[in-house]
Amino acid sequence: MTGSTAAPFTADDYRARMERAARAAAEAGLAGLLVAPGPDLVWLTGYAPTAPTERLTLLVLAPGQDPVLVVPTLEAPDAAKAAGAAALTLRDWTDGKDPYAATAALLDASGIPHSLKGVGGALIGISDNAWAMHLLGLQKALPATFYASLTEALPMLRAVKDAAELKLLAAAGAAADATFEDIRNVPFAGRRESEIAADLSRLLREHGHAQVDFTIVASGPNGANPHHGVGDRVVERGDMVVLDFGGLKDGYGSDTSRTVHVGEPTDEERRVHDLVRAAQEAGVGAVRPGVACQEVDRAARAVIADAGYGEYFIHRTGHGIGVTTHEPPYMIEGEEQPLVPGMCFSVEPGVYLPGRFGVRIEDIVTVTDDGGRRLNTTSREMVIVE
Ligand code: ZN
Ligand code: ZN
Ligand code: ZN
Repeated sequence: MTGSTAAPFTADDYRARMERAARAAAEAGLAGLLVAPGPDLVWLTGYAPTAPTERLTLLVLAPGQDPVLVVPTLEAPDAAKAAGAAALTLRDWTDGKDPYAATAALLDASGIPHSLKGVGGALIGISDNAWAMHLLGLQKALPATFYASLTEALPMLRAVKDAAELKLLAAAGAAADATFEDIRNVPFAGRRESEIAADLSRLLREHGHAQVDFTIVASGPNGANPHHGVGDRVVERGDMVVLDFGGLKDGYGSDTSRTVHVGEPTDEERRVHDLVRAAQEAGVGAVRPGVACQEVDRAARAVIADAGYGEYFIHRTGHGIGVTTHEPPYMIEGEEQPLVPGMCFSVEPGVYLPGRFGVRIEDIVTVTDDGGRRLNTTSREMVIVE
């Protein structure tokens, strides 16, 4: 396995992203950005080490300096193959040397104050998934630096997708939809949740997913717990079953939910399903440029609250998606970030009746000039399975 992703981006694309990140960091009052292996590094450089290790790999973005990737010598050949490698300088370090001192030297060259002899210190953004041991090593080598979470400091860095990213997200969504069309035809009654989840996983891969992040099959009372993953419960006739699945296809995410029923539903089950469908419709209907994220949540929530089920909708309405399946922006009360064309996120209201059943319907939606466009298009009517 090599370190490059299947995404069709060039060194110029990655150069533009790194420049955008450095600019955004400066505007946010950060002296620089340190990015460890993970989604931010993938998005900025196309580089994903096979397995991040205790050996430091770190992208250093500092004002007035070309991007530098500090990388262990033995991993440098892999890093050099990443699509973004031509847009940065590789600085390798060999076992026995101090990679934190090498990072400090880079900050010296960029003029970022970081030693106690200097004036004051510098606030540096560091990717959320950097290992604590690496942050501790940096703090020791750079005693006058302070750190901010990259996601907290620059929550919208990856939020607005370009045309190529939208195409990949749409393709991932179509693959998830094809998975749903297949799974609705497998037998449900008499099989364990875990067996149906295994089908979902296999189908996602058959439809092009290289990574499966989750396959929730929550039947009957298990559906009332939005965090229920999958268990050994045997699905029975009469069960509602919440299906929620997704992962990465060509480096971009899918995430969709449908709630199916085994055999004919009761009037109440149909009513609750219709309610969630109407709430989801209202949430998607609220999407347009300039509207605050919280308005999407409010629109969906109002439908459920007006029907008297407000206390049973116990999570936020949605989350962003891109090179990960959960990221900013969040559709949640208090999030005033305005929507921007190109943003992609889920709209996934639910109703969870403890001890009985749950319903969730989820589509990925992208913001266009004319409103929200769904990247999942399977029927939102209740599907009857056998
Ligand atoms: Zn039922
Ligand atoms: Zn989901
Ligand atoms: Zn989701």
